[in-house]
Amino acid sequence: ATETTKAFIASADAHSAHNYHPLPVVVATADGAWMTDVEGRRYLDMLAGYSALNFGHGNRRLIEAAKAQLERVTLTSRAFHHDRFADFCRELAALCGMEMVLPMNTGAEAVETAVKTARKWGYRVKGVPAERAKIVVAGNNFHGRTTTLISFSTDPEARADFGPYTPGFEIVPYGDLTAMRAALTENTVAVLLEPIQGEAGVLVPPPGYLPGVRELTRERNVLFVADEIQSGLGRTGKTFACEHEGVVPDVYVLGKALGGGVVPVSAVVAGADVLGVFRPGEHGSTFGGNPLACAVALEVIAMLRSGEYQRRAAELGAHLHQELGRLKDSGHVTQVRGRGLWAGVDIAPAYGTGREISEKLVDRGVLVKDTHGVTIRIAPPLVISEEDLDWGLGRLREVLGA
Ligand code: PLP
Repeated sequence: ATETTKAFIASADAHSAHNYHPLPVVVATADGAWMTDVEGRRYLDMLAGYSALNFGHGNRRLIEAAKAQLERVTLTSRAFHHDRFADFCRELAALCGMEMVLPMNTGAEAVETAVKTARKWGYRVKGVPAERAKIVVAGNNFHGRTTTLISFSTDPEARADFGPYTPGFEIVPYGDLTAMRAALTENTVAVLLEPIQGEAGVLVPPPGYLPGVRELTRERNVLFVADEIQSGLGRTGKTFACEHEGVVPDVYVLGKALGGGVVPVSAVVAGADVLGVFRPGEHGSTFGGNPLACAVALEVIAMLRSGEYQRRAAELGAHLHQELGRLKDSGHVTQVRGRGLWAGVDIAPAYGTGREISEKLVDRGVLVKDTHGVTIRIAPPLVISEEDLDWGLGRLREVLGA
């Protein structure tokens, strides 16, 4: 890094909490799949804001939708109605094949909302005795950073010194149907799962797992809540990762790409039997479902309804996984996982850490992010060209000596 970059980083370090360890790049502008730093160096973005930027940086349709709405009205609060709200809720429900939407802003807020929804449904509809509701979750999950959500994290870094923790959750190993079956009791109100675990390193569960969970939850009158915040909205080659296994959950939790990387937009989407449990005053958010968020998300939904982005992710994803599969021949890669334009690549520990590989890629103009020491995560914008993807993969091969 040169002096300019170092100065920006030093200033940020001096005045911000050190709750992240970013790669040493200071981005100034971005367009499509490319970002430019304060020195004028260009980088291929192969992370896409952890899938928030599925439609690329500066997507014209999204920017125009935002600009038009900025000139009209941006915030009303939910104290009043506004004229984009009904359209947003109707269109999002239709995209999901569901009936109702409860809009929030960040992913963590939407998962919190799903937890509250499941509990209230449990008490009001299922008839679980007061204060006894249980939610079953998976080991190595990532659902967000609030005190309740980290209460059922298995990552010591995410939990340490943040207790006391919220009770009412049971953790079972991801991908293990026998453990799931054993964990369900008459007080279980929901199973909350990522259909592909993103932060854990893009872990795809064994075939049959999601359908098995669907069957168990249906039999036992338990809500199946799919956290598709990272896996959903085109990333895997379908609108929802659950679709690959023919599974329709009771509740979708969405975020990230729903706001197109322009504004934070998240939502819980479900049937009227589930979201119908809420009465005025029981839940809310000042910014949830605001006009600007609705306008941008409506454009995102329209883009997804064309099916074009899902097709791109499927086609380019097949190419990506074919190319990544070859990296294993080098002996420097131990495993490649993922689906669509989304991959976790495990680096052989003798060859280097995920962080070291990510830093070497920065020097060659490619941005990815490491996770859990050995893994690098690849999730380029779905609008990336095949040429750019191949160029990025070429840099990865260089760095991996493959
Ligand atoms: N759920 C999943 C599956 C995620 O991947 C994330 C973020 O990475 C979240 C929830 C939390 O979203 P946010 O960071 O917007 O709170």
